[in-house]
Amino acid sequence: MSLSPTEAGGAPAPDPSRTAAGGAGVGAGSRQEAVLAALAAGILGPAWDPAVPGRMLEILGRAAGRRDRDRLLGVLRALDTRAGALAFTGRPAPVSGLGPAAAEAVVRRWAASRLPPVRRLAAAVGPVALLAAYARPGPARDATGYPGPLGPAPDVPRRLAPLRPDGDEELTCDVAVVGSGAGGGVVAAELARAGLDVVVLEKGGYAAERDFTHQEGDAYRDLYLYGLTLTTDDLACRILAGSTLGGGTVVNYSTSFPTPPAVLAEWAEVSGVDAFVSGEVAASLEAVAARLGVTEGHSRPGARDRLLEQGLERLGWHAGPLPRNVRGCPQDAGCGWCGFGCRTGAKQSTLVTYLEDAAAAGARLVVGADARRVLVRDGRATGLEAVAGGRHRLVVRARAVVAAAGAIETPALLLRSGLGGQVGRNLRLHPGTAAMGAFAEPVRWWEGTLQARYSAELRGRLGPYAPLLETVPVHPGVAAAALPWRSAADHRAQMERLADLSLVAVLCRDAGAGRVLLDRDGSPRVRWRLRAADEARMAAGLAAAGEVLAAAGAEEVFSIQRRRLGFRPGEPGAAHDWAETTRRAGFGGGRAALFSYHQMGSCRIGTDPAASAVGPDHRAHEVDGLYVADASLFPTASGVNPMLSVMALAHRAAAKVAAALA
Ligand SMILES: Cc1cc2nc3c(=O)[nH]c(=O)nc-3n(C[C@H](O)[C@H](O)[C@H](O)COP(=O)(O)OP(=O)(O)OC[C@H]3O[C@@H](n4cnc5c(N)ncnc54)[C@H](O)[C@@H]3O)c2cc1C
Repeated sequence: MSLSPTEAGGAPAPDPSRTAAGGAGVGAGSRQEAVLAALAAGILGPAWDPAVPGRMLEILGRAAGRRDRDRLLGVLRALDTRAGALAFTGRPAPVSGLGPAAAEAVVRRWAASRLPPVRRLAAAVGPVALLAAYARPGPARDATGYPGPLGPAPDVPRRLAPLRPDGDEELTCDVAVVGSGAGGGVVAAELARAGLDVVVLEKGGYAAERDFTHQEGDAYRDLYLYGLTLTTDDLACRILAGSTLGGGTVVNYSTSFPTPPAVLAEWAEVSGVDAFVSGEVAASLEAVAARLGVTEGHSRPGARDRLLEQGLERLGWHAGPLPRNVRGCPQDAGCGWCGFGCRTGAKQSTLVTYLEDAAAAGARLVVGADARRVLVRDGRATGLEAVAGGRHRLVVRARAVVAAAGAIETPALLLRSGLGGQVGRNLRLHPGTAAMGAFAEPVRWWEGTLQARYSAELRGRLGPYAPLLETVPVHPGVAAAALPWRSAADHRAQMERLADLSLVAVLCRDAGAGRVLLDRDGSPRVRWRLRAADEARMAAGLAAAGEVLAAAGAEEVFSIQRRRLGFRPGEPGAAHDWAETTRRAGFGGGRAALFSYHQMGSCRIGTDPAASAVGPDHRAHEVDGLYVADASLFPTASGVNPMLSVMALAHRAAAKVAAALA
């Protein structure tokens, strides 16, 4: 038997594809590492430590597309030649020999360059150096006042025993599901409960309560898609998604909004699918909310959300508690680390709900299994071909295939399988930026209930596409990558005040669409630009976020635009002038740090094959027996945090698949 349960062997073995720093033959002692070391010394200044360059190579090794990674490694190598250095730095001195001050000057010039490829070089190297320094214990992180994880993980048994192939393998089942997150978990459980034989392929590993180290760097490596390296192709927006058994539901912030009725009405109109307004999707929303124990009774705000609420109340603006999918959540300081996995099991991720249901009903869960292609014969899906454990061939023969790999990977899988049409189009990202506030007292924005309060104030004023205001837990690695870098000393000074910062995040409902394409090696590429109308709404959102922080008592408020723009509340006209300056400075094309926590819409559902990738019954227009059951389905952006909407659509998809196979 070559399919072995991971439980027997304890923590899962590392997947070689996840530690592919050396994937391009580049490792310790390479010229690229020497160049990264010099550049990192310039970027980090006193925050540099010798472990950083190796970590940078490791992070770069997790990038989705080999082409981009190889191109960057090629440039780094060229920088260590006289000709390459001359082209990129204006002096024929190999970059590995530059001292920190000279390297810092080079990076500053790149960041301010008028030439997009040169600017992109700074955008490619800078955040990686900062993440490498601050997402792990060491001198950089120590100076921020960050306490690191609060104690060790609990010694509790793992409750699932997923399979991990250790040789080539063939499985047979009724339904093969790709992905185990919000969509995949629900669809697998519902189909298994309906008596079908289900196999779930998950490309991430299995980590349970006892495995959550709560080290930021470990979490990005082990639980997040491409270790947090995925960005839009212009590097302007960083894309965060879960990649582990349970997918996004393991790392997400537990906010559980039902799809708003106005959004359901819009979706019915855009897609022609009556189920959005007939009560069918509403019934699925109720069913999944009940299974997850969604409640507004566990939303005790931490310091970050108290400031948000205070600011909103002082302005007389809307403030609401966030519904959350938790049971017995302590809502204490430690909850801020729950984005790296909930150690108490309170967060009702699919790991502790639907995947347990699925396993109890006989579904087989396979981890470390990367589905590469849907097998199609005579226009009908007959199964999947996957790479397991980074090197074994896994074939799953099935009567139906359900793609639930998330809105980036589902279209990539379908494109690799020869589908076209609308597959990959209509991608929405909910791009987010934030206003930052510096306070006189420590806030410790990494602590406290993940998310507890929000404001829909702008919806009332600017309509259904206006941004929401929320907070998120912020740990040093991601903070370092987000805070504007103007010089090593300036960035270091910001990091030393980290504990005093808070934020109001601007969650934008984007009307403009991007597209998932395939790279030559079959990995996804995200083409996306911030459209003018979305940028205007983002600017309005940032202005409002700044006002909230000012009302909450911030001593200084600033944006995370490339030019760090700030104001001191209390100075007459300052907030208004700031709003105007930040709007003019702009947000697209790398002018602001943007983050996407919600990817949607890239295989949307609809009656018209010219405008959608799957039909009203979730079946791909082009291939029988192939279904989609994840965030890719959304006809437009959900406008609220999407997990519950994803689960409801997956719940509905399961009924359609079961009916088709009956
Ligand atoms: C940090 C963070 C915080 C968030 N907070 C919230 C929140 O509070 N509330 C909310 O509503 N939403 C939140 N979200 C978003 C929410 O988690 C996602 O919208 C949701 O999980 C998407 O569901 P999905 O099924 O489409 O994909 P996912 O849940 O991402 O699951 C996809 C799974 O498929 C796997 N996969 C991908 N490709 C393959 C392949 N080829 N073979 C096998 N497996 C594959 C992935 O590894 C992953 O595990 C958050 C997201 C993040 C990253």
